Amino acid sequence: MKRTDYLSWDEYFMGIALLSAGRSKDNNTQVGACIVSDENKILSVGYNGMPTGCNDDDMPWEREGAFLDTKYPYVCHAELNAILNRSTGSLKNARIYVSLFPCNECAKAIIQTGIKEVVYWDDKYADTDGVKASKLMFRLSGVAIRQYQPTGREIKLKV
Ligand SMILES: [Zn+2]
Repeated sequence: MKRTDYLSWDEYFMGIALLSAGRSKDNNTQVGACIVSDENKILSVGYNGMPTGCNDDDMPWEREGAFLDTKYPYVCHAELNAILNRSTGSLKNARIYVSLFPCNECAKAIIQTGIKEVVYWDDKYADTDGVKASKLMFRLSGVAIRQYQPTGREIKLKV
């Protein structure tokens, strides 16, 4: 008889998004993303971080202060990194698992690559104009959004 307590697809892919977030150097926000095809094959992963070549130790991670002294002009979000990190193939009809609802900039990139579903964990910035803009664009573009339903399962890894 086969195992019955295997991971669901949603648990598996959201688990990978959450694991990827663990790579982020950001003290305040760690976000991970995992893009999968409509055949449940992983196409790409990403997390929020500085652009390639911009040394994590030399870049600012602050949230407040003069714009150029904050992380905001520099950090590449998890979704954008996942989109840009894909090695081959199209993202058409793919879905993206994200630990945090996409900002409006990432929403545009998601739409333009042909991703058709966003599965998100947290929506803590739902009241911000950025996320409202994301939701408007997703609706108009026919991108489905779905909140992940946590199962409470604990996944322990010893690495
Ligand atoms: Zn973003």
